[in-house]
Amino acid sequence: MSEPIRHRDSGQWLSSFASRIEVSCPRCGRAGAVRAVWADRQWTAVFVCGQCGLDARSERSDWWGKLRVTGRRPCGYCGYQWLCVDRIRPSAGNWPIEVRDWLATALPEAIAVDCPLCKRASNVAVEARRERDREGHDPHFGMPLRLIERTRAGLLWAYNAEHIDELRRYVAADQRERRCATPNKTMISRLPTWMKLARHRALMLKSLDRLSARLDESASA
Ligand SMILES: [Zn+2]
Ligand SMILES: [Zn+2]
Repeated sequence: MSEPIRHRDSGQWLSSFASRIEVSCPRCGRAGAVRAVWADRQWTAVFVCGQCGLDARSERSDWWGKLRVTGRRPCGYCGYQWLCVDRIRPSAGNWPIEVRDWLATALPEAIAVDCPLCKRASNVAVEARRERDREGHDPHFGMPLRLIERTRAGLLWAYNAEHIDELRRYVAADQRERRCATPNKTMISRLPTWMKLARHRALMLKSLDRLSARLDESASA
């Protein structure tokens, strides 16, 4: 009888895979990579597209992803608490944006909200911040991830080849051990439940193979 395959959680956080992230250029769609360095408690990230020349840099606060717009105040007429704004704004589209400049020109400083009690409208001051999601966008610039598969059980994505390998080792294992100092913060411990189910193992492995194949295609292109 063969030995069971073991997987021991290495203790790596998702962020430890974030120094190279395979993305699609948000302007022309060509495969590319965001490269990032962690130093002085912050990421410095760069993306340069080999086809269209799009150049994104974290030092300029470039951001291609969604924004969350929020604010609240009591009704200016009857004092009802609270009139709230909480909206996700889609990506600004085909140009790099410096978030502060963009907000100054493209976002109203206040949004009129109707009071549910007295029905009169008051202006609610709003602010916007980057909306980092776990649904297929890179955390540095909000660009679309390239290694992404929509399966019937859920969305599977990876930042890069090492991330795929670690997921594959975990999924293929018969025995899974959690042995690390911060067991609830590791990439593995935070995987959605469906990925951990034995009945999804074949689906996961097939999907991970497809992600690897996509990486190989672009390497030889
Ligand atoms: Zn491009
Ligand atoms: Zn009111």
